[in-house]
Amino acid sequence: MSKTVRCVCPLDCPDTCSMLVNVENGRAVALRGNPDHPFTRGALCGKMNHYLEVVYSEDRLRTPLKRVGRKGEGKFEAISWDEALDTIARRFREIATGPHGPLAILPYSYYGTMGKIQAASLDRRFFHRLGASTLGRTICASAGVAGYEYTVGSGRFGVDPYAVPGCRLILNWGSNTVQTNTHLWSLMVEARKNNGAKIVTIDPYRSETAQRSDLHLSIHPGTDAALALGLMHVIFARGLEDADYLSRYCTGVDELKRHVAENYPVSKVAAITGLSTQEIEELAVELATTRPCLIRLNYGLQRHFGGGMAVRAIACLPAVTGAWRDPGGGTLLTTSGTYDFDDHALTRPDLIPPGTRNVNMNQLAEALAGELPGPPVQALYVYNCNPAAVAPNQAKVVQGLVRDDLFTVVHELFATDTVDYADIVLPATSQLEHEDIHGSYGHYEVMHNAKAIEPLHQAKCNADVFRALAGKMGFEPELFPDDATLIREALGGGPKVRAIAPEDLIERHSVRMGLPEVFMPYANGGFRTPSGKCELYSERMKADGLPPLPEYTPPAENPRDRADLREKFPIALVSPPKGQFLNSTFGGNAFHAQRAGDPSVEMHEEDAKTEGLTAGDWAVVENDRGRFVARVLLNGSVSKGVACARGIHWSKRSPGRTGINSTTSSGLTDMGGGALFFDNAVRIRKPKPEEMPEELQLGADR
Ligand code: SF4
Repeated sequence: MSKTVRCVCPLDCPDTCSMLVNVENGRAVALRGNPDHPFTRGALCGKMNHYLEVVYSEDRLRTPLKRVGRKGEGKFEAISWDEALDTIARRFREIATGPHGPLAILPYSYYGTMGKIQAASLDRRFFHRLGASTLGRTICASAGVAGYEYTVGSGRFGVDPYAVPGCRLILNWGSNTVQTNTHLWSLMVEARKNNGAKIVTIDPYRSETAQRSDLHLSIHPGTDAALALGLMHVIFARGLEDADYLSRYCTGVDELKRHVAENYPVSKVAAITGLSTQEIEELAVELATTRPCLIRLNYGLQRHFGGGMAVRAIACLPAVTGAWRDPGGGTLLTTSGTYDFDDHALTRPDLIPPGTRNVNMNQLAEALAGELPGPPVQALYVYNCNPAAVAPNQAKVVQGLVRDDLFTVVHELFATDTVDYADIVLPATSQLEHEDIHGSYGHYEVMHNAKAIEPLHQAKCNADVFRALAGKMGFEPELFPDDATLIREALGGGPKVRAIAPEDLIERHSVRMGLPEVFMPYANGGFRTPSGKCELYSERMKADGLPPLPEYTPPAENPRDRADLREKFPIALVSPPKGQFLNSTFGGNAFHAQRAGDPSVEMHEEDAKTEGLTAGDWAVVENDRGRFVARVLLNGSVSKGVACARGIHWSKRSPGRTGINSTTSSGLTDMGGGALFFDNAVRIRKPKPEEMPEELQLGADR
């Protein structure tokens, strides 16, 4: 009665770890990293080492629920699955046949699980078939993907992570690799041991990665493109570019050369970025003369207004230096584009009726307020996501969620902030309770997640819920097949995954895609742009109304540049994740929340002094959008004028029931419709006594 089952970490993390789960008499009793997996190499991170406590938590949602209190109050009573699904189907039918039609129904999901089946298959088919509004899933990476693809083309290929131990220079650019890509960090450390590789981190925040790097360049938030352009200025000025690579494989070389020479002198770039001219010059020379050179390019720098252009500017660098020629040389944004799963077959976009409205998920606040074109949103179906905590402009999102005329369904494992606003709550399975297959955005394996245990309580997985709902709606059963069919369809894509037979994947658990032993995507050109070259100058961008050459696009809210803003909101606030949470996942888990401690804001000593704040004080962090309360930390992690509030704590577990996203803007990036989470001017000050949340008023402490 005892077995070991091979599972896959479902979290939105590039490492996509392989997990071995020991099951005894139907109960999972132990879980560990798979020592035989080439990327996991036996280690899970602190988040998932305790996953069994999450799976068997007393706080799991156990049955479907219907709301009996006010919205936001979190009062529910248990109902049967049949009643829950009938209620949803009835309401969807009423709305779909009503005056606004099915576009008044909005699905809302992201990557609470990364599995191909549970994240994006029958859910998409269901809402496409229904004719609901579609959702632009732009909250994380869309700005960078747009900038990267304009430059290197579709597929957005990058460095083979397995080649990283051969590198001699490694830049973590906007990447806290130690925490958010921990197995890649191990490979970086191997490079340091093997070849004396120098590790440099470029980040406005002295993250765990910056602390362990050989050099930390503390750049002003949102000025990364200026740095990249300044580096190119130096490289061209000193004749250190790879002229052969540029002439063979790139467009717009002369235009770029002239552009950076005229517009990005080092002194100007130093003033923009806050770095010294010497730091910029030295880094440029190292980049151009040290090989192999990896730039791990990540998400922090995308969360500003100029995020797309920042990624584009950095993506030009390995073409200028010729770094793509070396194993391990070039940029690594994501490996996700390398997978050629048949997503069309899985999600069936052909079912979307012509003229369907697309809602950018970063504008949920506006969508619920009826401020976007198209019909009002009358129904919201949330799964794999917790928008009341993670969506920007939180106060306005909540104003929308409390609307009495909004019918909200939430499918979840736990009673998150969003669950409190639901009319119907559906209990979800954990990763151990359903089957799935996974790609990755940090390595090249295709992986099978076997079902380790039967669903606990009355939990159902996404695919089962949409099969059942489709039945209630009278949709064609053949559109909603079983998991085995979906797996076969996903693997029927392009040549890299087509060679993997479903039964072989299930047998072997993890199989590398059909790629060369060391993948060097652009060593000899081969860019998937219209010109077939790396487009330093992009006609496509020009046609799309964007500057055709890489530019520095300043942040939307930069207190250093705008006197009006500086007076009211003098601090640029960034909000990367705490190590115990993944977005808001684990925010309700006692083990992780206790280790994460109070919500905190890391400040520069002088900024704190100006406001009369000292370490350990509670402070109000605010702007015109909203406010939250956090403890002041003074630990030298940020420059003057910058602060860092790591998240994401659940609002209902935070003082005053508000979180970091009460201050963030629902504005969009320069391209790709991305979020502006780190482009956020605030004031951080002492709270007046009456402003202290009730739970903190006695002695201002908890
Ligand atoms: S490192 Fe990432 S993929 Fe691995 S266990 Fe942790 S969260 Fe999951």
